[in-house]
Amino acid sequence: MRYFPIFLDLDDRHVLIVGGGEKALQKLRLLTKTTARLTVVAEEVEDGLADLQVQRPFTILRRDFNESDLDAAALVFAASDDPELDRRVAAAARAKGIPVNVVDGPADSNFIMPAIVDRDPVVVAIGTEGTAPILAREIKAKLESWLPAHFGRVAQSAGAIRQKIGEAITDPVLRRRTWETLLQGLWRQFVLNGDPSGADRELTRQLDAARNEATPVGSVALIGCGPGEPDLITLKAQQHLQSADVLVVDRLVNPAIMEYARRDAIRIYVGKEREGDAALQDEINRTLVREALKGHRVARLKGGDAFVFGRAAEEMSAVRAAGIPVTVVPGITAAHACAASVGLPVTLRTKVRQFTVITGASAEGPVEVDWSSLVAPGQAFAIYMGVRTAEHFRERLLAAGAQPDTPIVIVENGTLSNERVVSTRLSLLARAIADKGIVGPAIIFVGLDWASAGLTPPERVELYEPAAQGAAPQSMISQTHSTA
Ligand code: SAH
Repeated sequence: MRYFPIFLDLDDRHVLIVGGGEKALQKLRLLTKTTARLTVVAEEVEDGLADLQVQRPFTILRRDFNESDLDAAALVFAASDDPELDRRVAAAARAKGIPVNVVDGPADSNFIMPAIVDRDPVVVAIGTEGTAPILAREIKAKLESWLPAHFGRVAQSAGAIRQKIGEAITDPVLRRRTWETLLQGLWRQFVLNGDPSGADRELTRQLDAARNEATPVGSVALIGCGPGEPDLITLKAQQHLQSADVLVVDRLVNPAIMEYARRDAIRIYVGKEREGDAALQDEINRTLVREALKGHRVARLKGGDAFVFGRAAEEMSAVRAAGIPVTVVPGITAAHACAASVGLPVTLRTKVRQFTVITGASAEGPVEVDWSSLVAPGQAFAIYMGVRTAEHFRERLLAAGAQPDTPIVIVENGTLSNERVVSTRLSLLARAIADKGIVGPAIIFVGLDWASAGLTPPERVELYEPAAQGAAPQSMISQTHSTA
């Protein structure tokens, strides 16, 4: 972020605008909304600009720019139609340390103007650091249609009752809840409809309700945050993130997802380095209970889906045992997200009738399962946490009668910018992982490939197929699929 967004208090400050044409007029339309003291300096001034003075007085000096014009200025706009003059104004302002904006001259400016959605006192400023103003316009258009015209009235009325609420409700958690009830419910409707007495009645009702309530009971939501790509979380997860007071965050959750959360929410990171670290799990359970008992809304953020290899049961029962309500928000699990990302269906009519998810590691080490059922015809499965135990899987599956050429697709860092896809066959599984340097997180698909689905693999899939099976490692080659 090169340009830092701030809101500048211009009340009673001097702002100088050099120029009297269309460019100056555009800036003035915005500046006349402020309570700043505005001075326009220009030898010639357009009629439209002078007309603005009728609604909102400001000073016009009909003469050439003079360096002393800068003396009291807090902000300067160089908006003449003379590039030479604009440069002169900019240089003089810079020399005096006054922020200056040259209209259409970002190189000479030391601040730039954002696109603005104005619902005074609610103002949304949008910037692209000058890279793509059209994107800013797109966001502006969306916000304009989304924010009610009288939205500012809601903020103004909230400002007017802020002190009253602060005095009536001292518990901070309860106070925030009451604000939410007011700003999202009936009170807001009354304000937007221009019905102050309705709003007052509703305010009294909510204050009475708050007086009769002790600190509210907190809650815990187990939230599946998907595989990493921020757009792959659900709307419901996003809503929970926006309202949560405390976030308890897993290692696999992409930090970009935190952008959806309140900036003042407490963040507790509980990165689990080793699956099945019981002490750590107890500590997480205790944290959830402790924070919820304070009355907080706790969002427990997990990678993928909370119910798939997510230790959700332990956390739910610990929280319920403390009498705290728990909700679960499903997420897109890694296997489904990885499959979609590489265009690989996980079931196939007539060919793959059963699709299983299986963990490659457990607290006790590599897993033992009913291997013969996994290698039966019509089966496919996704191994989670299997990178380190791949050799164990290869051995057990082959011993149970799996075909050595059973297709394998490995997706590492699925849906993230560093996603990699390797395709090989079962007999080469562990070697492919070692040679391709796959460290995870990764999903290993067994029994699925594009060819049997009648599809071609995406171009970026790395095919791992050493020239001759069992050849010495130094003669191994790997190549990338070409588009056929
Ligand atoms: N609850 C999660 C799984 C947690 S177990 C879910 O539903 O997805 C952790 C394992 O998930 C990792 O070892 C890896 O196998 C898999 N995984 C998580 N994110 C992944 C990603 N972006 N790409 C590939 N595999 C991922």
